[in-house]
Amino acid sequence: HAKNAGRNTWRCYRPGMSELIEKRRALEADLEQAVENGDFELYLQPRVRCSDTEIEGYEALLRWTHPTRGPVSPVDFIPVAEASGKIIQLGEWVLAEACRILKTLPADKRLSINVSPIQFRQIDFLGNIEAIVAAEGADPKRIELEITESVLIDDDEGARQVLDALKRSGFNIALDDFGTGYSSLSYLSRYPFDAIKIDRSFVANLGVEANAEAIVRSIIDLGSGLGMKVVAEGVETIEQARLLVTNGCDELQGYLLGRPVPVDRIAMDVAGDVKRRLRADGDEDLSG
Ligand code: C2E
Ligand code: MG
Ligand code: MG
Ligand code: MG
Repeated sequence: HAKNAGRNTWRCYRPGMSELIEKRRALEADLEQAVENGDFELYLQPRVRCSDTEIEGYEALLRWTHPTRGPVSPVDFIPVAEASGKIIQLGEWVLAEACRILKTLPADKRLSINVSPIQFRQIDFLGNIEAIVAAEGADPKRIELEITESVLIDDDEGARQVLDALKRSGFNIALDDFGTGYSSLSYLSRYPFDAIKIDRSFVANLGVEANAEAIVRSIIDLGSGLGMKVVAEGVETIEQARLLVTNGCDELQGYLLGRPVPVDRIAMDVAGDVKRRLRADGDEDLSG
């Protein structure tokens, strides 16, 4: 990362930079093709309720298999799709595909999808997604839209109106990656979020950094106090899970509970041993 490399090394990045731009351009062209070729797929990752360790629903995560390069991470291609505007078409495909997947899931399961700020700021975002959901015959109550704080920073009042309208249409709304933006605590109460998702950087620090538990507890208390569900992202260890449960977190998501997998490989239940250890309340020896 250029930022971390320090001031005196910046010149080293001049040749690398043009390479990067070249790569980005190639990616952009391939992306154009990929939407048309249907090289995208949604993987699902479970979201697990702490109260009964049952799967509440799944987050849909976009996967792109490039014809020659193989899998490309969304971390790499989403920004390119955003810059080129392709994200609009891609986002519409994601929603339509999520609606189709919903039909194959038990009626009590929900799907979360990620919405780019670029999509959110479209003139008729609400109208567009309502049309897709209606055309696919899906129930908005089974869909949760994950947005990030950047949406709120840009256009406070406009964002609030769109979010209110989405709520009235029945969609659930979650604030993703909470704690990574320029959030002031008070803005949370001004928006109708059903859930906030604690960014996995905070979860990763649990048991590592002395203050991590206090920070996570504060986020949980804040969200709960505002009547929102609090979901932890990136839960990888049973110790993290227990600290989150102890501090009143509502739902867990992460490799411990299940990795993102293709739809035909999703589990309907959390693995038995993980369930037992979560329910053992710190006394796992007793549960065998
Ligand atoms: P996100 O929405 O915060 O999604 C969570 C990311 O954390 C996913 O990365 C997921 O695979 C990863 N993850 C889940 N559990 C764990 C864990 O226990 N440990 C670790 N280290 N990571 C975990 P992924 O799938 O690579 O997606 C990255 C980001 O790309 C997403 O972050 C989201 O911002 C964006 N993205 C993915 N799919 C879409 C999409 O359909 N549309 C839009 N606009 N953005 C998307
Ligand atoms: Mg997300
Ligand atoms: Mg997230
Ligand atoms: Mg994240």
